[in-house]
Amino acid sequence: PKFVYDFTEGNKDLKDLLGGKGANLAEMTNLGLPVPPGFTITTEACKTYLDSGEEPTALRDEVSAHLAALEEKMGKKLGQADDPLLVSVRSGAKFSMPGMMDTVLNIGLSDKSVQGLAQQAGDDRFAWDSYRRLIQMFGKTVLGVDGDLFEEALDKAKQAKKVTVDTELEAADLKKLVTTFKKIVKKEAGRDFPQDPREQMDLAIKAVFDSWNGERAKLYRRQERIPHDLGTAVNVCSMVFGNLGPDSGTGVAFTRDPASGHQGVYGDYLQNAQGEDVVAGIRNTVPLAELESIDKKSYDQLMQIMETLENHYLDLCDIEFTIERGQLWMLQTRVGKRTAGAAFRIATQLVDQGLIDEAEALQRVNGAQLAQLMFPRFDEDAKVEKVGRGIAASPGAAVGKAVFDSYTAVKWSRSGEKVILVRRETNPDDLDGMIAAEGILTSRGGKTSHAAVVARGMGKTCVCGAEELEVDTKRRRMTVPGGYIVEEGDVISIDGSSGKVYLGEVPVVPSPVVEYFEGRMHAGAEDADELVEAVHRIMAFADRKRRLRVRANADNAEDALRARRFGAQGIGLCRTEHMFLGDRRELVERLILADTEAEREESLKELLPLQKQDFVELFEAMDGLPVTVRLLDPPLHEFLPDITELSVRVALAESRQEPHENELRLLQAVHRLHEQNPMLGLRGVRLGLVIPGLFTMQVRAIAEAAAERKAAKGDPRAEIMIPLVGTVQELELVRDEADQVIAEVEAATGAKLKLSIGTMIELPRAALTAGQIAEAAEFFSFGTNDLTQTVWGFSRDDVEASFFTAYLEKGIFGVSPFETIDKDGVGSLVAAAAKAGRETRPDLKLGVCGEHGGDPESVHFFHEVGLDYVSCSPFRIPVARLEAGRAAS
Ligand code: PEP
Ligand code: MG
Repeated sequence: PKFVYDFTEGNKDLKDLLGGKGANLAEMTNLGLPVPPGFTITTEACKTYLDSGEEPTALRDEVSAHLAALEEKMGKKLGQADDPLLVSVRSGAKFSMPGMMDTVLNIGLSDKSVQGLAQQAGDDRFAWDSYRRLIQMFGKTVLGVDGDLFEEALDKAKQAKKVTVDTELEAADLKKLVTTFKKIVKKEAGRDFPQDPREQMDLAIKAVFDSWNGERAKLYRRQERIPHDLGTAVNVCSMVFGNLGPDSGTGVAFTRDPASGHQGVYGDYLQNAQGEDVVAGIRNTVPLAELESIDKKSYDQLMQIMETLENHYLDLCDIEFTIERGQLWMLQTRVGKRTAGAAFRIATQLVDQGLIDEAEALQRVNGAQLAQLMFPRFDEDAKVEKVGRGIAASPGAAVGKAVFDSYTAVKWSRSGEKVILVRRETNPDDLDGMIAAEGILTSRGGKTSHAAVVARGMGKTCVCGAEELEVDTKRRRMTVPGGYIVEEGDVISIDGSSGKVYLGEVPVVPSPVVEYFEGRMHAGAEDADELVEAVHRIMAFADRKRRLRVRANADNAEDALRARRFGAQGIGLCRTEHMFLGDRRELVERLILADTEAEREESLKELLPLQKQDFVELFEAMDGLPVTVRLLDPPLHEFLPDITELSVRVALAESRQEPHENELRLLQAVHRLHEQNPMLGLRGVRLGLVIPGLFTMQVRAIAEAAAERKAAKGDPRAEIMIPLVGTVQELELVRDEADQVIAEVEAATGAKLKLSIGTMIELPRAALTAGQIAEAAEFFSFGTNDLTQTVWGFSRDDVEASFFTAYLEKGIFGVSPFETIDKDGVGSLVAAAAKAGRETRPDLKLGVCGEHGGDPESVHFFHEVGLDYVSCSPFRIPVARLEAGRAAS
């Protein structure tokens, strides 16, 4: 294979091979934009290296050839003593992983070439500053030297000079610092800082490869669900300098506001600075608009380029650029990250501009973003004390105890506390603290600082650059205007949509998007919320496109009505055991423990009218839409008294010589029915078959309720579902009884009920014999919770808390199979059962009602295998509708 591509050889569609950065640098080069020449080493080279521990042999030769071409183009050689070509070596994976992997700038500088650079630039200070940066970055990332040692030496140099910022150090100071840095390298790494420029480059390339498997990078990938086997590309790019004086600088820009989606001039600029200074949030930047007065020519050119990029990528782009002595250079672009709200607005704006169509608009948003928009927000009318305001970097309303370091954030959140991570600025080492926190607050840095970029990526609330707050991480506190001190553990609230910071806990109100779904806010009204408008339109696109229907898991009228407002097209799962909890539990307990026929019938008779009323209400709420009622499926222990508690009661009564006959009888019964593995025990259809009259009572309640609704001119569409079936015989037995009861009710009421009877497929045996089961079922609903439990042999109640973290860390799976359907295992069983079922009965209706029905990735899978509907909790319905639409477009 070819391992190295010149920027002129690639294009934006080669992200798998060239990484996002490399592919887009190539694309910009081909668009004729000013990109410093360079080349990209492919992810294939990285993977080969990581697999074998050695760089592929062809790589070295290819790098040599491309370097020679680059030197030829630039008219100078890498590290050439009198006029050195310098390069940056940057990581760049397929998916952006901000700050997670390594980058080394200024490669090619040495004791000799630093003189040449000084002469060429006419600037000694600049040359020595570049050299000390190289040793520092190279020492830290390539040679593994503790970065603090360099920082401390830099601080000492500043103290000695009695200055506070780096820029006040002069050439002579920096030259001394270079000597100190080299000593640090020698002592810590046990070798000299390499003077051979090619050696510098080769080591840096290897370090970038290795950084793919750094701890930070692995953690980030798990969080973002990025596969671990993609590898990173490496970009070798000729250096341009933003730190050559006031006519130089570096910045970042967005073609639209990544928070609101509005078009305009958004970004940050830092004069006389190099590379990472902006993103690291070390010095404060100026808004991009000010570049117009600093350097009008570059500003105009940048605006022109931004327009070109938007029209080319048909999306919001973000850009990194550098100005070297009045010459603008593009260092990076990509389709930019954005807030959830902006994603919806931008997608509809682009449709209105005629740049994309509806199907494409659906690809520009996703269910996770929609779910995020449905979170509650702070109540603006609440009486609260605002103490600061920063930049609204990533939306949401977060409340928690202030903590000032990542370690505490993780520790406290593990013990169940909600925390807000407060830092002056964050850096990649803060990642696990950011994940643990409800929100992130920083006192420095702009919209593109590390905190902002990472928080947005994670969908986590973030306020950054709240400059009035004085954060003192050493003493674990911050001082707010007016002198009040927030100590570690004090509750604060941050609003990532407005940038406001409050003392104490601010009450929250529902999001406008939920108000819209609830019908309390209308799209199309004159003062309609822009966001609601966009969501409304995107949902309409999705509903037009989707083939999957979306139903709700609901077992009472209130949930059913909400589900309906959210767009549910029926109920896919009414769990009747939920109707038996509370004060009715005792009735069920009596039923299960009944010794005599008479006792059993007594409790069934009491339950019947209660059940019937439940169904009347449910059918009324869902009038005209299907309602799948599942017959009772509790693991038995959920309805029996706790065995330990009962034993203690009996023992106590015994020792006190109090009467305890009833308790004793109960205890004996509980012992008799006690199970080691209730989830694999007497539940579902098995319970129905061994407790005479239980299922028929439920069927009668359903049939009578339907007849009553018919009589009231309603349109009930009940479907009866039998749980935990493993063989068609079980289903046939229940079916025969049910048919009889339905016929009785029809005869008694004169109503024609048309109740269909189907089953859940939630055991491997049911899936494997789906062809037979379909003989007796009019529909299947896949119970992927139990199916996952039984296919993997994972107890659904235990494993997530016990060993899943270890499994996730080891990469055995990237996400819990209880959250996203395991396509290869459980999913293939679903697909095969669906196929076999339809072979027996071509009009077999197919749905899914496990938790996966509301999970975006799983919805796409169910679309692909041809199910008719997914059923999920009411709040997930909009997400499922959207994802079903995306799956079909
Ligand atoms: C299932 O098993 O997927 C299901 C929907 O049933 P329950 O969660 O009630 O067991
Ligand atoms: Mg189940």
